[in-house]
Amino acid sequence: MKRQKSFENDRPTLYLVATPIGNLAEFSKRAIEVLESVAVIACEDTRTSRVLLERYAIKKRVVSYHNFNEEESARGLIALLEEGLDIALISDAGYPLISDPGYHLVNEVVAHDFNVVTISGPSAHLNALVASGLDTRHYLYYGFLSDKAAKAKRELADLCDFPYTLIFYEAPHRLKRTLEMAFAVLGKRKACIARELTKKHEEFIRGDLEEFLTLDDLKGEIVLLIEGKQELKPMIDEYMIFQMVSTYIEEGLSSKDAIKKVAEDTNINKNKVYENYLKAQAR
Ligand code: SAM
Repeated sequence: MKRQKSFENDRPTLYLVATPIGNLAEFSKRAIEVLESVAVIACEDTRTSRVLLERYAIKKRVVSYHNFNEEESARGLIALLEEGLDIALISDAGYPLISDPGYHLVNEVVAHDFNVVTISGPSAHLNALVASGLDTRHYLYYGFLSDKAAKAKRELADLCDFPYTLIFYEAPHRLKRTLEMAFAVLGKRKACIARELTKKHEEFIRGDLEEFLTLDDLKGEIVLLIEGKQELKPMIDEYMIFQMVSTYIEEGLSSKDAIKKVAEDTNINKNKVYENYLKAQAR
């Protein structure tokens, strides 16, 4: 077990700094201060990050940290921490490590007993979820489905029984494929496409997977959200109603109150409960 009291020790720190997902104004004062304070900023793509850094006049040494040089680059970054320097990791947009590189580095930094601290900001899946109109109480962030159609189909099939909102990132050129596959595997579920979040052409398309099959090609950056498997309400038949009313009567309620209580419990109209109760009694 390892405990990190982030601001009560003087160990060097790796800051994971979330960056804007479109609108560059969405960058916190704290994020700027941290990037100004570190020795080096590791970027997924130094050219992309330079736009943000220039906008906020952050003049720092940048190094590249991407999927193809993770191990080698992590070694260099650990060496900086060992020298007592703080460092930061940013990705092209949103949180590093969320469908972006950084997992290997964080593991190494933790293994070496340095601090890892998050600097908050946007992430496309959360921006999309809260405005989607779908259930936000529980959700599963899946990220990208596989490029390979057969594997993507299996991935969707594995998620089929999951009862919580599903969130995917998708490239525009693959959206049609994914929508067709999702309808075939998951059926006519409520869904939302959140496009170009925080940018000029931001759009939310809310509907269901069947309706989405009629959409023309969409451009830009896309989050696809699909409602989880809905629990089927058990069918309440007249016999069950009779049993429930009888139980309340046995417990001492008048038949009128028992019927009222069952109507409340089942969300079935009082007259219907009474009708069903009489029918079952007559059998
Ligand atoms: N790290 C990022 C995050 O925290 O959201 C995700 C990076 S992932 C490589 C890029 C994908 O995120 C895009 O293909 C798109 O699916 C989604 N995305 C990023 N920015 C977006 C935006 N402004 N609007 C909609 N989706 C976005």
